[in-house]
Amino acid sequence: MSEIKSNIKKSLDNAEKLNETLNSFLKIEREYALNRAEELEKSSDESPLKGFAIAVKDNICTKFSQTSCGSRILGNYRPQYNATAVDKLLKAGAVIVGKTNMDEFAMGSSNENSAFGTAKNPWDTTRVPGGSSGGSAVAVASGVVRAALGSETGGSVRQPASFCGIVGLKPTYGRISRFGLVAFASSLDQIGIFGQTSKDAAEVLQTVAGRDANDSTTAAVEVPNYADEIGKDIKGKRIGVPRALFGEGLDNEVRNAVEQSIENYRSLGAEIIDIDLPNSKYSIAVYYIIATAEASSNLARFDGVRYGFRAENAHRLREMYMKTREEGFGAEVKRRIMLGTYVLSSGYYDAYYAKAQKVRTLLKQDFLNAFDRCDAVLTPTAPSVAFKIGEKTDDPLAMYLSDIYTVSANLAGIPGISVPCGLSSEGLPIGLQLVGKHWSEAVLLNLANAYESQFPLGAKARFSVAG
Ligand code: GLN
Repeated sequence: MSEIKSNIKKSLDNAEKLNETLNSFLKIEREYALNRAEELEKSSDESPLKGFAIAVKDNICTKFSQTSCGSRILGNYRPQYNATAVDKLLKAGAVIVGKTNMDEFAMGSSNENSAFGTAKNPWDTTRVPGGSSGGSAVAVASGVVRAALGSETGGSVRQPASFCGIVGLKPTYGRISRFGLVAFASSLDQIGIFGQTSKDAAEVLQTVAGRDANDSTTAAVEVPNYADEIGKDIKGKRIGVPRALFGEGLDNEVRNAVEQSIENYRSLGAEIIDIDLPNSKYSIAVYYIIATAEASSNLARFDGVRYGFRAENAHRLREMYMKTREEGFGAEVKRRIMLGTYVLSSGYYDAYYAKAQKVRTLLKQDFLNAFDRCDAVLTPTAPSVAFKIGEKTDDPLAMYLSDIYTVSANLAGIPGISVPCGLSSEGLPIGLQLVGKHWSEAVLLNLANAYESQFPLGAKARFSVAG
């Protein structure tokens, strides 16, 4: 068998075998992927990702497969078109092997809000993989694919990357087209990338980044050659550390690992400086006002008329809308729609939504001030390691706090990356996060690469589930 086909077959075999335990794929496209591998074999084009197996989160439109958003309401939905990012991957020769599990409409931090069962963390299957792009993170961490697309609204790529011991990149708002990414909160959403290494993430970013006429929020900013930057000496790079954020709520083992990573960066020649992000303490509150407000509007389109699921036995139009939404959406999605409707309603709009927008501006200004003095800001990615399945399901607030370090980058529109930086005493991965100024993905990827090549997780790192 030819090389591309045998690699893709191996990826599919692993995906199928592991899915019984890990539930990371909602759909594995064996026939489609094998046919595509065969076509690629025949073509003489040397495209950059030729034969590269990739998994795609199930809220990114694919016309050759389903796009359920982890929701019953889109359970049988098949889009008419591919997302721009998907088209770009295909054009570059990638083979999409399947669509991955996720929290319903990307709302969640653990994958437990999926309508199709929770994906499991391959390091310990009693734990969550993080969310909402948990399935994509698991597909990469378990070795089924080298890279995957996810989506980020408040940390949904970086947090699961941290929980699963891989690299997760959220690019600048406007770097990757959102055409064909099902909207959650349009001023925050951005497609993100998981890689086994930062080089894998860089290769995929190179392919999918850039202006797209179908998404007016993409910017006409030149896409640099990311590979040129990776491997450059990081001596003299300035890394800012906001110590005030290393306090309450941060797990001790995570704190120690991240403190060690700061020393490790110093040993690589980076200069460490103290910075202050005074408005960061409001980030979760601001995020849950803005994200829910936008979600309540975006999700109004799912009414049983145009897409997917329609409730049976409804006799009037209004009854059909209500039954469809009642039966089609899960509890967390309903909670967000209600919160969002509330903060936008007359009488509360100024007190919540308008105020949150003002604080969002201050938060962004904090980062811009910091970037006058440093190239990147370093924090933990998440306040803890992967938690147990079920541990936070009854406490939405505790779940929301999982994103305390990540949501600010979405609110400010800046890029962020999570890189594995250590293991807990139980052998679970810990991630460090670097965020940088707008369009500084190359700097972040270079800093991440320097770290992972000098301080890999090492021989202690073992999955309980082998790929
Ligand atoms: N966990 C956050 C939320 O539940 C972020 C989700 C995301 O980035 N899509 O909204």
